[in-house]
Amino acid sequence: MAQWFNIDFLRNSLSLFNHDLMLPDRYVRDINEINWEDLKKDKGIEGVIFDADNTLTVYEGNSVHHSIIKSFEKSKKIYGSDKLVILSNYTGNGMEGSRERRIEEIKANLGIRVVASSKKKPAIQVYNIAVCYIGTQSSATAMIGDTMGIDILGARKAGLGYTVLVDPLDPQSDPLYLKFARHVERFWYRKELARISNTQ
Ligand SMILES: [Mg+2]
Repeated sequence: MAQWFNIDFLRNSLSLFNHDLMLPDRYVRDINEINWEDLKKDKGIEGVIFDADNTLTVYEGNSVHHSIIKSFEKSKKIYGSDKLVILSNYTGNGMEGSRERRIEEIKANLGIRVVASSKKKPAIQVYNIAVCYIGTQSSATAMIGDTMGIDILGARKAGLGYTVLVDPLDPQSDPLYLKFARHVERFWYRKELARISNTQ
């Protein structure tokens, strides 16, 4: 099924108006602003779920963006690779086997596991699968992603303990529907996001 046809995303679109589900606990520019020790010690977070596209890699990329390599490696050191996992909605670029190939490349390059599920964020089930992968309680697991209506919404609905919204690493690389969704949600919540980012 094509990447743009995300029925779960469409079904949850009305949640745009639900502040409790859309707003992250933190809003930062990128993961360089996350103090992994504090996240573990002060927030009680024992495992982290990462979005891939435009959170760790550029869209359809298979390696960590050069600007955040140090922070990503630090997260592996603090948590251990088995307590980190990637949850991506990427379904392939139309070429047969492209999704499986990218999953293998990401696993090899980043050194952490990737959830392979036909369900997509923000469906609660995929977060539950990710939590099972890393063996943590939902309440002790954080989600880090660049899209409120996909990454953050699903994480809040699944009861994850902490959510962090990042700005996209390379917004121009996103497909049109994601550019549009990001523009709408960040405009709609501009005051709340400004307040969240100012209180850190
Ligand atoms: Mg993303």
